[in-house]
Amino acid sequence: MQKIEQIAEWLAAGSGAVVFSGAGMSTESGIPDFRSPGGVWATNQPVYFDEYMASSEARYEYWRQKSIAHQDFADSQPNCGHKLLAAWEQVGMVQGVITQNIDGLHQLAGSSLVLELHGTARQVACLECGARGPADQAVAEFLATDEVPSCPECDGITKHATISFGQQLDDEVLRQADQLVQRADLLLVMGSSLVVQPAASLPAIAARSGARVVIINRDATDQDGIADAVIHGEIGETLEAINSCLENS
Ligand code: NAD
Repeated sequence: MQKIEQIAEWLAAGSGAVVFSGAGMSTESGIPDFRSPGGVWATNQPVYFDEYMASSEARYEYWRQKSIAHQDFADSQPNCGHKLLAAWEQVGMVQGVITQNIDGLHQLAGSSLVLELHGTARQVACLECGARGPADQAVAEFLATDEVPSCPECDGITKHATISFGQQLDDEVLRQADQLVQRADLLLVMGSSLVVQPAASLPAIAARSGARVVIINRDATDQDGIADAVIHGEIGETLEAINSCLENS
């Protein structure tokens, strides 16, 4: 049996797959990933969380970078991969999505259970009082004033509601992601180089709990050996091919 047909059969017969998506999920929406040539780190040095807290220069550099990246998010739309995952959730073939992405495109496509391991760039959060607000507004303020915005509630240090390098992941989101993977009978991994933790461990956790693991990625990953099926290709066309099999079965 062809791999695509096999994956379609696992999806159709299963009790709801769990999806894990990385930055490659959104390159077809025009948002660059981190590690491909031309990706974000080819042009920017990340600002670490402790630098952000300690230095106003680091905060300015962060907002300079983020206000450029923000335009990519603000103008982007879900691609056919995001839309198919949302459609599969509607019919019970997908239970939920765990994502490293911060662009909010799974939700815009209509997915309802989305666990954002690295938070969201669509909001800013105060690191002192926790107040949240739309990132659009904070970025517009930075661009208009050339000054780092502070919390409108308490004047505290505010930052996008994402996990910066050196910042702790949210324990509750991690716990829910772990539970989802352990309950799944199929883990569909797509668009992640699987080098960052906890992403790198998810295929092994799923396999240990008896789930099948499918990896769809343009490049090989270190976890390919664990998977029951690996497709080295584009996410959009691969999911469309799986969907055609589902429609014809
Ligand atoms: P990564 O950049 O390390 O790896 C992306 C992988 O996706 C690569 O292996 C690449 O070959 C593959 N890929 C790219 N486009 C693809 C496509 N169309 N079809 C199939 N495969 C494709 O990404 P990562 O593992 O998610 O880790 C990077 C970090 O980057 C995460 O922490 C994430 O928060 C952050 N990030 C997020 C966004 C976003 O929200 N869209 C964008 C850039 C970076």
